[in-house]
Amino acid sequence: MYTSELTKYSPRTEIANTSRILVVEDEELIREMLVVALEEEGYGVVTASDGRTAIEYLKNFEPNSTEAVFDLVILDLMLPQINGLDICRLLRHQGNPIPILMVSAKGSETDRVLGLEVGADDYLTKPFSMRELVARCRALLRRQRLSTLPVVPVLHYKEVTLNAQECRVMVRGQEVNLSPKEFRLLELFMSYARRVWSREQLLDQVWGPDFVGDSKTVDVHIRWLREKLEQDPSRPEYIVTVRGFGYRFG
Ligand code: CA
Repeated sequence: MYTSELTKYSPRTEIANTSRILVVEDEELIREMLVVALEEEGYGVVTASDGRTAIEYLKNFEPNSTEAVFDLVILDLMLPQINGLDICRLLRHQGNPIPILMVSAKGSETDRVLGLEVGADDYLTKPFSMRELVARCRALLRRQRLSTLPVVPVLHYKEVTLNAQECRVMVRGQEVNLSPKEFRLLELFMSYARRVWSREQLLDQVWGPDFVGDSKTVDVHIRWLREKLEQDPSRPEYIVTVRGFGYRFG
């Protein structure tokens, strides 16, 4: 079942925010061995025993989506319904960049080449040792992490430009100096233009949940930020007060 299998995320791995691996394998014994070996390494593991379920799990692959996103797929070649090669082809066709480790009992060079040709990142022939498998997973995840180092976008709104990579803010063509807190506040605002934030939410996001102090801190920083951004800080066009709620950007 789709939903019951998803509950296999253990709280431990959620807190540790470790990589999540989807194991697609129809042979129960192998599947269970994979789960045990991977969970021992601290990975969050979800399983699927046929091709259709696997595709269902993998259809949400937006990097910012919070549900059913995996960092790696271990994909058996011979599966009921839709085989591993077709799944692989489909995922790549959809533009899903998830690393795929294909495993197969068929050990011929042709299978290996075919697997890699349709977009698998690595290929392992059964029987394999769990140590070998875990090592391959680790390598793939590491490689993925490097290639997906976030490209921090440059945020624009009207005449304000924030370059997070360079920690620079330009207002009407002039660079302005912001304190780290002001910068973080503006970055948050610009990342979610028009979203209304309460003072508590802003404290939480910018100062962190451990911050001891009251929400006046937010008001003070907003005032400083307005002085740097707005042409007329008493009639702000960027950081707008939403009476009874908090603040909004734009
Ligand atoms: Ca199989």
